[in-house]
Amino acid sequence: MKVILLGPQGAGKGTQAQRLADRVGATHISTGDIVRSEIESGSELGKKVQDYNDRGELVPDEVIVEMAKPYLDDADSWLLDGFPRNEAQAKALDGALDEIGEKLDAVVALEAPDDDLVERLSGRRQSQATGKIYHVEYDPPPDDGDDPGPFVQRDDDAEDAIRRRLEIYHEQTEPLKDFYAERGLLITVDAEQEIPKVTEDILGAVGREEDV
Ligand code: AMP
Repeated sequence: MKVILLGPQGAGKGTQAQRLADRVGATHISTGDIVRSEIESGSELGKKVQDYNDRGELVPDEVIVEMAKPYLDDADSWLLDGFPRNEAQAKALDGALDEIGEKLDAVVALEAPDDDLVERLSGRRQSQATGKIYHVEYDPPPDDGDDPGPFVQRDDDAEDAIRRRLEIYHEQTEPLKDFYAERGLLITVDAEQEIPKVTEDILGAVGREEDV
């Protein structure tokens, strides 16, 4: 299974990719996670990409393609989250798949209005102890010591960076919907529904009803 999850920040790509990966036994590849772990490692590459990440700007195409490639080569079955983000990256992915004689099964576009996305992202907090994601209002961190925290906001979840990330999404990533629709690969799913319903819709749409 080779599926791309497309959608704006906050639409739940990471959440859905993880749920789907568990269900169908595929690997969840998140280029955002790859970028963040490189930054945390303090490597030269991490230093090079940190500024882009913190401002909500895209890392240059050739850098992100090189970072993603080993993960794509390693797994037979994957759910790609956060890549490709523009047409140049989509073409690089096509080239990489051609080289190994593989093809995409589907591209799932998660859709939700910008105002909801800003609200979801600006309230998002991550536990430094467990990595679990919470929302200050809708899913507050436990205060019974179950998860000791601390609960921190990602640098790029500050409101200015969120707006910038959504602007880039609409300008550069959203046109990929047409790019893949022309090839008969696009499936759109309403991301405002409850999390399990979104998962169910995706599995149904990619012909994996048996995994629902
Ligand atoms: P995300 O968690 O997917 O929002 O990614 C966090 C940050 O990592 C982005 O704001 C970019 O700086 C960088 N990044 C992740 N994926 C890509 C990509 N496909 N192209 C360029 N930059 C990316």
